[in-house]
Order: sequence, then structure tokens, then C-alpha cells
Amino acid sequence: MSWKLTVIGDPIGHTLSPLIQNSMMQKLGAAGKYTACHVRPEELPDFLRKAREKLDGFNITIPHKSAVIPFLDAVDPYAESCGAVNTVCVQNGKMTGYNTDGDGIRAALGRMGADFQGSRVALLGAGGAARSICRKAFDCGAEMVRIFCRNPEKGAALAGDDTRAEVLPFAELSAENCGSWANILLNATPLGMSGIGQDFGDFSFLDGGKPFVCDIVYKPAETTLLKECRKRGIPCKNGLDMLIYQAIYAYRHFTGAEFDADEMADYLREQVEAYLQK
Ligand code: NAP
Repeated sequence: MSWKLTVIGDPIGHTLSPLIQNSMMQKLGAAGKYTACHVRPEELPDFLRKAREKLDGFNITIPHKSAVIPFLDAVDPYAESCGAVNTVCVQNGKMTGYNTDGDGIRAALGRMGADFQGSRVALLGAGGAARSICRKAFDCGAEMVRIFCRNPEKGAALAGDDTRAEVLPFAELSAENCGSWANILLNATPLGMSGIGQDFGDFSFLDGGKPFVCDIVYKPAETTLLKECRKRGIPCKNGLDMLIYQAIYAYRHFTGAEFDADEMADYLREQVEAYLQK
């Protein structure tokens, strides 16, 4: 079997998915190729018609994660609850959608010794990534998810009718209601990301406790948020592990291959870090 896989998005130029997936295939001795494909919104139906016949699977990034859903034959329950699919398997012309972002963040936290089960989770942002994280936190038994966001309607939509969710204005981030309250703190906004030109202005919300912090941004490797965590002795990591684990779970969906995910993640992290340092 020679796997035919791709990632689609608009834009797609900076994606790390081909590097990660091809490294994984090579490491496992599998034959095939994973490419990147620029698909504009108006081109999505045509791409999907061709994919059904010619591909074994594909990943999806912005802006198609929700738009693809009506075209699929089946969507797994977690992806459905997120309203977003990032992985599609094609088997015998049938397309099934999954979302591996949630398992990506869960595994990344697990490598730090953190677990959603029984945790108080402070979630910054209420966009697509925040939704996947929030759903996974609930599925994994989080005690409470406190969503800090600028747009209360987006926060309310993310919380749904789950009584374990609270929505607070982003401007109310503080030591009292975040740093000293949370066991796990996740940044799912682009603040601090290279090229965005926006960052947190004040980091006092980190004070008062020692939550596990994951900034899901991974460019730069060390955001100001992570620097501020290190100053305070707070355990923290960037979003690279989330990215890598979501790719590992996607590859497992595509191929059914069984391998040690943590060993593979360590290998892939080396590959990606070497590439990013170039
Ligand atoms: P998105 O859907 O656009 O959501 C971004 C969220 O951040 C929105 O809630 C937005 O608020 C909020 N936000 C933006 N600027 C803000 C500011 N200045 N102050 C407060 N809140 C602000 O984006 P996404 O797809 O969720 O991605 C978010 C970040 O996560 C990006 O940096 C992305 O690269 C990263 N990411 C990483 C991984 C990984 O595997 N590591 C996976 C997915 C995403 P409004 O709704 O008010 O605009």
C-alpha cells in the first residue's frame, strides 16, 4: 500500500503537516506521500469529489474545518461536538471525519503530568482551537472550564448548556480568578504568536498558584507567556506537542498503524525543532 495523503487549507504555505507526516511514514517504513494542497473555499466541493476517488485521507486546516462537514458520509461524535473536522479518512469511496486536536492537547498535557480529570481549567480564547479543547476537557472529566474571551456570545456558544463552564470577560483575567484558581491554564488565542504583533500586556494573572500552562502557540518556540511562567517556576510548554500528537492520531486514523505515540512524538519533535531552527 502506498498512502496518498494531503493537507488542505487557505493559506497553506506555512503548514508543518507534510514534514511531520512524511517523517512519520519514513520512520515507520511505510510507503506513500503526504503533500500540501491549496484549496480556496470555492474549490472545496471539487477537491472533495476528487479526494473521494484518489486519496486515502487528508487533514484540514483553516478555513475548511466546519465547511467540510456536510460533504462527509460520517463524522465521529467528538468532531461533531466541536463542529469541526481536521482529519478525513477515505475508505471505499466513503469519507469519515475526525478531530484529533482534543487528543493532541490531552496527550501534550499528559507529557507534563497534567490531566483534565478533576481539574479546574482556565481557557483563554473562544475560537476553533478553544472549542476542541473545551469539549475534550468536558469529555475527560474536568471539574470546571473557565473561558476568558472578548466576545461573550462566542464564549456562551462554547460553554453550551454544560454547567461546568463559566464565561468571563478577557479583561477580567487576574491572579485571583485565573493563576491561583486553575490547575491547568491554556492559551488558545494567537496572542504572542510571531507575526501577529499582539501580546499579553500584563502577566499578573499567572500569580498566586502553579497551574500547568500550555500555550498552544508554537511560533516562536518560547512566547512571552512561557518566559513569564519560567520566571515564576510554573511548569509550561508550547503548542508543538499538541501539533505533533494531533498529527500522530490523524496518521493512526489514516493507516491503522500501531506504534508507541510518545516515542514517535519525541522523534518528531526533534525533526520539527531542527527544521524551525533553520
Ligand atoms: P480562532 O478561531 O481565530 O480563535 C482565536 C481566539 O482568540 C478568538 O476567541 C479570538 O477572539 C481570540 N483573540 C484573538 N486576538 C485576541 C486578543 N488580542 N485578545 C483576546 N483574545 C483574542 O483561532 P484558532 O484556530 O482557535 O487558533 C488560535 C491559536 O491557536 C492560533 O495561534 C493557532 O496558531 C493556534 N493553534 C495551535 C494548534 C496546535 O496544534 N498547537 C492548533 C490550533 C490552533 P475573538 O473571537 O474576539 O476575535
